[in-house]
Amino acid sequence: MNKVEKKQNLLELERGQLARWFADRSIAPYRADQVCKWVYLRQVDGFDPMTDLGKGLRASLAEAFEIPRLPVDALAESADGSRKYRLRLSDGLFVEAVLMPERAHSTLCVSSQVGCAMGCRFCRTGADGLRRNLTRGEIVAQVRDLVGSADADRPLTNIVFMGMGEPLANFKPLVSALETLTDNDYGLKFSGHRITVSTAGLVPRMLDLGHQTRVNLAVSLNATDNETRNRLMPINRKYPIEALLDACGQYPLQTGRRITFEYILIDGVNDSTDNARRLAKLLRPIRSKINLIPFNPHPGSPFRRPEEEAVLAFQQILLDSHYTTIIRRSKGQDIAAACGQLAAEG
Ligand code: SF4
Repeated sequence: MNKVEKKQNLLELERGQLARWFADRSIAPYRADQVCKWVYLRQVDGFDPMTDLGKGLRASLAEAFEIPRLPVDALAESADGSRKYRLRLSDGLFVEAVLMPERAHSTLCVSSQVGCAMGCRFCRTGADGLRRNLTRGEIVAQVRDLVGSADADRPLTNIVFMGMGEPLANFKPLVSALETLTDNDYGLKFSGHRITVSTAGLVPRMLDLGHQTRVNLAVSLNATDNETRNRLMPINRKYPIEALLDACGQYPLQTGRRITFEYILIDGVNDSTDNARRLAKLLRPIRSKINLIPFNPHPGSPFRRPEEEAVLAFQQILLDSHYTTIIRRSKGQDIAAACGQLAAEG
């Protein structure tokens, strides 16, 4: 009996790799461009509609490849309009992506790993450790599958890598996926200005990201001294605040761009006015803006959300020091879709 060959997931191939697949079969490599346009721009799920390819070629492609979607296993909608999608991967694991409507556009928060090895104490994703990295195709699929789910009057324009996982710990698939997301001719056409990759501080990879892509960098800082940061984010023991900020200072920022520093405010841990003053001083050498995120309590967490006055006082000190400082009222809190709440348990 003939063994049935498993078809390859076409989304796992970069355009250049697909071009090589054609070249290896003595077919003009530009056919890859046509296929990518169908898959990413016109969003087809099979080869039959690709009418600018001959019938024989479509049949060969259909024999070799599939163009799968990530099935939506569960969908929760928040009172603020955010939608959390739990997506099933081919091996039965789950990831989550959150679509957040803003005033005139939508932002999609995507995952880069199943679970996370970083173990940040305030984060639900980190509590269970890392299951595995996502593939390039799984990262791309989150965007490809959900780009059409945004409301017509709030199209999806922004992507943030702030879902499950540390994106820079899955570097090659991340960069490969970013290439397709930002490919203006044959990919998903997102502007690099509107994509933000957030890191817990994987210092050696930060500069690589700056050199290899044109996306924005966000750094999850959350403390102004090493003792507190060691406690909140174990990665700080390896790459302490000085090394992290040094890498930020070297980051190749394009004109007019800044690094976003995220600071989760936790009652009695890092939310004092002294902390705010230290933060203002620490970030002085770096072109930066600051997002303050009052902690989102979740079951089992030892931390509390600060009082509103403490949050505002913290912000005021940073504003007085001339930092653009936004308090991010986390979206989707009622569906556990806010920062640090993604867990995707089965
Ligand atoms: Fe991982 Fe981010 Fe959670 Fe830290 S905050 S454990 S880096 S997912």
